[in-house]
Amino acid sequence: MNYVTEPSRQIPVVAETDVLVVGGGPAGFGAALYAARTGSKVMLIEQYGAIGGVATSGIMSHWTGRQEGGCFAELREKARDCESEQVINPEKLRILMLDMLYKAGVDVQLYTAFSDVIMDGNRVAGVITESKSGREAITCKMLIDSTGDGDVAARAGAPFEKGRDDGGMQPMTIMFKVAGVDMDRAMFFWGMEDTVQLPEGDLQTLGREKLPKPAGHILLYPSSIPGVVTINMTNAIDMDGTNVRDLNHAEYICRNQIPEIIEFLQRYVPGYEGCYLIDSADVIGVRETRRFEAQYQLNEDDISQARVFDDWVVTKSNFFFDLHNVEGAGLDAIAEYKTFKQPEPYTIPLRCFIPRKIEGLLLNGRNISGTHKAHSSYRVMPIVMNMGHAMGIVASMCVAQNKKPLELDIDEIHEQLRRTNVTL
Ligand SMILES: Cc1cc2nc3c(=O)[nH]c(=O)nc-3n(C[C@H](O)[C@H](O)[C@H](O)COP(=O)(O)OP(=O)(O)OC[C@H]3O[C@@H](n4cnc5c(N)ncnc54)[C@H](O)[C@@H]3O)c2cc1C
Repeated sequence: MNYVTEPSRQIPVVAETDVLVVGGGPAGFGAALYAARTGSKVMLIEQYGAIGGVATSGIMSHWTGRQEGGCFAELREKARDCESEQVINPEKLRILMLDMLYKAGVDVQLYTAFSDVIMDGNRVAGVITESKSGREAITCKMLIDSTGDGDVAARAGAPFEKGRDDGGMQPMTIMFKVAGVDMDRAMFFWGMEDTVQLPEGDLQTLGREKLPKPAGHILLYPSSIPGVVTINMTNAIDMDGTNVRDLNHAEYICRNQIPEIIEFLQRYVPGYEGCYLIDSADVIGVRETRRFEAQYQLNEDDISQARVFDDWVVTKSNFFFDLHNVEGAGLDAIAEYKTFKQPEPYTIPLRCFIPRKIEGLLLNGRNISGTHKAHSSYRVMPIVMNMGHAMGIVASMCVAQNKKPLELDIDEIHEQLRRTNVTL
């Protein structure tokens, strides 16, 4: 490979903040909101023009799993758009999430991509950004990496792993919506083991046979708008969301599947005979990339046995192992949907958010430390939003007390969380 040498240059420091949140998805939203509400000067940068990440730019269908308390409970109530408390209206979320951050005093800067990290020894001291305004620097006392992929942590040199032992990661999907559905007769399929017997055969089996591979499962969710259904059926496998060429390839594969999926629905699924495409996600949805090494790695037993950690920061989480098949359509062999049993809601400890080797940095959202299987449960939006809530409080306390996260008094963290509706 050929290389060019970048000449060194001076970059203007356009902001100095206490807490910098990079990435404005559900996790980054929770982090910025609660760092600001806890009294810190907070800035959030986001590469796209919306707060919400997969929830908005990815036109997501519904909050999955069960998550009580905290930032999520507040947003779910404010964002509710129909009788169901699970169904999402991404357009309403776009307005609401941005407004909530503004009202909390967060300095939100959309259309701004993280480009590089500024290090002071092994401590993260800020970032270099790229935007229409050029290359700029922002310094901070604590940084919360909420990029999903952990772009900041990776650049800082924090060790990570991807996918299962052979590197295989969950597939990518472009969500889309159709209108013209006869809602009185329409069927919805919330899980890949949910099916129906049609005159032509079992619907999920028909999907495997007739849909363009590696698509093949049927996931259809009602929306809050009459006649409109959100569809989670495009599928691209063997892709790495941290590789721009894979992202492009996956985008092409998924876009091309959309017309054939619609034809399949029109032909086989009752209520969808007259459906037509009205919307698709601005960006491809990436389920899994980097999971960083931290002081503790959450595992599947912690989740299925509902372990309560002494240093809990996320509580009352409940979701099955939603592992999409790494090699094709449907659920993965080690996924657990209808077989999933969890006696109580589970907790996530503070140690999962503290990367090894790097200081001044908190992990957040789907990039925290967990196994490939555990990740398939905790990656969902309600849970990551409450991760953000906790990390906002932790970062704010670190700044106020000039301490590292593990030097904080865990009882004081719990007290702050309880005051903000996060309890065991
Ligand atoms: C196709 C699909 C379907 C899903 N279905 C559901 C569902 O039905 N219900 C559910 O609850 N969960 C669902 N999930 C899971 C859930 O949406 C994600 O795991 C969750 O959004 C992760 O939250 P996050 O904040 O960690 O990351 P993200 O939502 O990915 O947000 C990360 C944010 O960081 C920004 N960012 C990234 N890199 C940079 C950078 N370099 N510079 C600046 N900004 C950056 C991104 O633009 C984005 O806004 C689904 C996921 C996918 C992909």
